[in-house]
Amino acid sequence: MKGRLRVVLLGSTGSIGRQTIDVIERLNRAGRKLEIVALAAGRNVELLAEQIEAIGPDVVSVAREEDRRELSRRYPKLRVLHGEEGLAELAGLEDADIVVNALVGAVGLLPTLRALEGGRTVALANKESLVIGGELVRAALTEHKGRLIPIDSEHSALLQGLSAGKREEVRRLIITASGGPFLDTPLEELERVSPQEALKHPKWKMGPRITIDSATMVNKGFEVIEAHHLFDIPYDRIDVIIHPDSIVHSMVEYEDGSIIAQLATHDMRIPIQYALTYPERVGTDLARLGLDDRLELSFLPLDEGRFPAFSAVLAAAKAGGTATAAINAADEVLVKRFLAGEIPFTAIAQGLNSTLEGWENDAPLTLAGIRAADAWGRAFAEGLFQ
Ligand code: MG
Repeated sequence: MKGRLRVVLLGSTGSIGRQTIDVIERLNRAGRKLEIVALAAGRNVELLAEQIEAIGPDVVSVAREEDRRELSRRYPKLRVLHGEEGLAELAGLEDADIVVNALVGAVGLLPTLRALEGGRTVALANKESLVIGGELVRAALTEHKGRLIPIDSEHSALLQGLSAGKREEVRRLIITASGGPFLDTPLEELERVSPQEALKHPKWKMGPRITIDSATMVNKGFEVIEAHHLFDIPYDRIDVIIHPDSIVHSMVEYEDGSIIAQLATHDMRIPIQYALTYPERVGTDLARLGLDDRLELSFLPLDEGRFPAFSAVLAAAKAGGTATAAINAADEVLVKRFLAGEIPFTAIAQGLNSTLEGWENDAPLTLAGIRAADAWGRAFAEGLFQ
């Protein structure tokens, strides 16, 4: 890294956003020069205000107009924007070098496109950008000079594994999955598991939607789609394997029989830092993975019968078009309804399959078509199980 790296942080109050700020502070303490020039948050205005005071950005954006007015009152000299427009403007900021997209949800797609169209580097934690808009993101990458670096631990591991050989030498990508909290729960009990049980992820600390998506393995299905678009590898050469230890974050198998794995503690700050300093590696004082303590690693095949939601997501991926947008929107609604106690855990997978059956998949693969599929998926999932 030469000179100052100007960072736009979208989704600053969420789990990845807060950890990104921590990583940037650590890098700066270690003599790097990263400057956060813009912050975007949703509705957590109190935390955003704390971040504004600690960081001093040039411009911020919030979800709602009323919060924009409130922040403008509190910080008269600060430029405050709001809504989708605000996010898109931050992503397109002229003088930014890197846009960290840690937004949650479909709202993250437009800023990813804007940043890539402006030739920026995007450090991507927002899954939806690739899950619903993978084709558009790839087109933007081909047409403009932007770069896309994954933050997700699995994709960070794959990026590192892929540097060991040429693309045509790759036999397959192997994405690891912890299996979530219900890996050993008897199948007949899954209908009765509570939101509290589903929110207890055995390894990672994450936001509520992604934690439930990990329990259903919808998240792993999304990660297969992300890997497909990020690395241009066909679906039949991307496998998922259960690895409850969550030490190996993913692997790349080459034609010559070698498998390259990336191992680290389960701390998201490691892949966040790699995305910010890529392709350099920078020293860290974060806890390191100890290998002297009889480290044992186990791997077992994915039982799709236990994770029908995973199969539904893959079916949508292979259907292509806007099916993934419809499925993603439906999943967001179904997870919310499960957390609210309206539907049982097993209804999430059932609802996804119904969504896939019901979706006509004839919307054009444009931003407008994706939005139409998203709106349809949401309304459809709201109407299920009434
Ligand atoms: Mg992941």
